[in-house]
Amino acid sequence: MRIVVGHLYPDYLNIYADRGNIAVLAERARVRGHELDVRAIGMHDDVPEVDLFYVGGGQDREQALVAEDLAGKAEVLHAAVADGAAVLAVCGGYQLLGRSYRDLSGAELPGVGLLPLRTVAGKRRMIGDVLLDCAWAGETLAGFENHAGRTSLEAGAEPLGRVVSGFGNDGESGYEGCRAGRVYGTYLHGPLLPRNPWFADRLLMEALAHAGVEVELTPLADELEHAAHTVSAARARARGGR
Ligand code: GLN
Repeated sequence: MRIVVGHLYPDYLNIYADRGNIAVLAERARVRGHELDVRAIGMHDDVPEVDLFYVGGGQDREQALVAEDLAGKAEVLHAAVADGAAVLAVCGGYQLLGRSYRDLSGAELPGVGLLPLRTVAGKRRMIGDVLLDCAWAGETLAGFENHAGRTSLEAGAEPLGRVVSGFGNDGESGYEGCRAGRVYGTYLHGPLLPRNPWFADRLLMEALAHAGVEVELTPLADELEHAAHTVSAARARARGGR
């Protein structure tokens, strides 16, 4: 089966191993007999029909460059999500998936509104290893955060996980990330998917479901991946709570 991934603004939002996340999806699809067809969606491009959207991280400067263009794609992105497409947005991309992002200079950038949240930049950056408890999936996520933005979820919004160690969305609420159906946003990179194979497979299954195949993916040994998760989780635990 061919899984089409739409990589939004790879020329702008591409820090923190964002291409590494796509490489993980491609390899985990390939060993199960599927092919990942990755299409770059850049400035002024039409949004093609895809099974999974990916938006990576970027600094305020890059976010300011793409925000208007991305907000202009909101209608078609909302329609795609309503049709069952999955979305993973990391860090700067996560912020732009919310309602708005006020950057350090005070500029208010428009968001896509796919996730019920707002972000305001603060002075102190929140940096370090993070461990999340994702009770909804019976799993944990380990990663690394580096952001100035403080993200507030609206009432009733579902976080991606509860912070075991690290700052998370705002360093206060104990929440990290947000999920709404098949749309996931998170500050975790470092990179995210190589250390958290269950999450990569979840995204692949949801993308496959959108492509028309409801399948369980055959489990992989994932010895290196689990070792990487263990190291990352231990570093986060050593860092301690918020
Ligand atoms: N510019 C945003 C912040 O610092 C996002 C940074 C990022 O993508 N790491 O909050």
